[in-house]
Order: sequence, then structure tokens, then C-alpha cells
Amino acid sequence: MNNFVFLGPPGAGKGSLAVKVAEDYKIPHISTGDIFRANIKAQTPLGVKVKAIIDSGSLVSDELTFELVKDRLAQDDCKNGYILDGFPRTVPQAEALEAMGVVIDKVIEISVPDESIKARLGGRRVCEGCGASYHIEFNPPKVEGKCDKCGGNVVLRKDDAPETVIDRLKTYHEATAPLIDFYKGRGKLTTVEGQEEVSETSRLVLAAVNS
Ligand code: ADP
Ligand code: ZN
Repeated sequence: MNNFVFLGPPGAGKGSLAVKVAEDYKIPHISTGDIFRANIKAQTPLGVKVKAIIDSGSLVSDELTFELVKDRLAQDDCKNGYILDGFPRTVPQAEALEAMGVVIDKVIEISVPDESIKARLGGRRVCEGCGASYHIEFNPPKVEGKCDKCGGNVVLRKDDAPETVIDRLKTYHEATAPLIDFYKGRGKLTTVEGQEEVSETSRLVLAAVNS
């Protein structure tokens, strides 16, 4: 099976890297953050419930998040594998996944120092329309403020505000980083050091996934 988990701090580039691997393997890329944001945008009951939590940089409850993932994994396109991006994010979430009988084949940890994260997220901009990700310095859209792909507005994500980024990093170290040892103990973990060059990081990630 090709059941992969991408682990790493906010802004490590998990999302973009996972999209590449998902294309290669023709498996779905499941990002709990993207699912939450789509619900917020569409003002669904779930979106209304989680908006304030996400804007503040805290984690949504394990129960709510797990329900969502359980439903997603039951869909037909997950039969041949999937990439989980942003889930599990706590040890209880990983345990719930195991309890459900899900076997994860590989966990790719993308490791990036906090200082680089702060610089990256401060300049990150995302498209309100399609979710495409940009950086004002390293990867700006061709027309300032407009998405190359869909023409949507390219904006600062609320939870990318510098104060919130500090909280998200703290949450990462406290709640999510313990998963590194959790999966190491199960012999599933490969760590990739995030490189300055995105193409170089994606080469290393693909090698780790293929190994
Ligand atoms: P990033 O990796 O940049 O922090 P994500 O898009 O993965 O962003 O997640 C954005 C927000 O969505 C998180 O800060 C959190 O509030 C919520 N979220 C996403 N995945 C989970 C999860 N597995 N458990 C709890 N909250 C989550
Ligand atoms: Zn767009």
C-alpha cells in the first residue's frame, strides 16, 4: 500500500511537496488544513465551528478532526493509498488511526529550523480562490496580489500573522513533534532536511518515498 504521512512544522512546505508526490503516485493528497479552510470559506456548520480556533493558530479538537479524516479515508479514491498532510498532528490522533486499523507505510518528516519558518511564513501569501501558495520574495505571483492560476486574490492567511506563527510553532513542538518518536519507534520514519531550493527538497522527498 502507499499510505504516507507528511510531518513537519507549519510552513515546512509539506503541502506543495505532498501535491507532487500525490501526482506521481496518482493518489489523493488529503490536507486537513485545506479541508477546514474550504469549510470556513463555504460557511458550513463545521467551518463556522472551527474558524476562530484556526485563525488563532490553535488546534481543532482531536475528535472533530478524526471524524473528518475517517469519512475522507472511507471514500473510493483512497483505495490505493493516500498522502496525509497535517494529520495526525497529535499522538492521540495517530493512536485513533491505528485503532481504526489503518496502516501507515511511511512517514516523511520535513525538518526546518524555527528561524527559517518565521521568515517563510511572514512572506507567504495564498490564493483565496484555489489555495495556491506564493511567497512575496521567493515565489511572487506574476501580477502582484493576483493568482497566476485562477486570478483570485492572493492574501496573507490570518494564521500566518507573526504573533500567531510563534504560537503555531510552540504547538508544533509540544503537540506534534512527539509523533517523530512515535513513528520512529514503529520503524516508519524518514527525515528530510528542508532545503533552500524547493526542487532539491522535492527530489529528496521523492527519494524517501520511493525507497
Ligand atoms: P500549517 O501546516 O501551515 O500549520 P495546515 O493547513 O496544516 O497549516 O493547518 C491549519 C490549521 O488547521 C492548524 O493550525 C489547525 O488549527 C487546523 N488543523 C489542521 N490539521 C489539524 C489536525 N490534524 N488536528 C487539529 N487541527 C488541525
Ligand atoms: Zn488561485
